Amino acid sequence: MSLTPAYDAENIFAKIIRGEIPSVKLYETDDILAFMDVFPQSDGHCLVIHKRATATDLFDIDREMLASLMAGVQKIAGGVKDGLKPDGIRIVQFNGAPAGQTVFHLHFHIIPVYEGRALGAHAGGTPAEASALEELADKIRSALLKA
Ligand code: 5GP
Repeated sequence: MSLTPAYDAENIFAKIIRGEIPSVKLYETDDILAFMDVFPQSDGHCLVIHKRATATDLFDIDREMLASLMAGVQKIAGGVKDGLKPDGIRIVQFNGAPAGQTVFHLHFHIIPVYEGRALGAHAGGTPAEASALEELADKIRSALLKA
């Protein structure tokens, strides 16, 4: 597989955008969608994607769309910061399977870090309960509404 493979419209995030599979959504505009990661590395781990950019990775998106995606990342990270009050926040983005990318629709991870709590494995393990994700998402959504 090349570092930037061709975009596959059947990838799981494209299906989430089209509403073909469920997700716990945090925020949505015509351009941006933020939703909870179903295999969270920590409480509040969420993902931000551009809905219209058919980009597999960072090298595959035009700058205007990237700028609006990054503004979305900053906004959602602010909601995580205010809603969950973690001790730190990692923003992570993988390019290419050897780097750890498993879903080939460009996305940014927002991973809250809590002192004394180790992060879970990337993209694995058992999926979180939808109710647990909803509870965390409620706090993030409330913080976003107040921002
Ligand atoms: P990547 O490995 O491509 O950087 O990240 C993909 C992320 O998507 C992983 O953190 C993984 O847990 C998450 N993920 C995989 N499948 C699904 C899914 O069906 N729904 C949601 N919400 N997240 C998913």
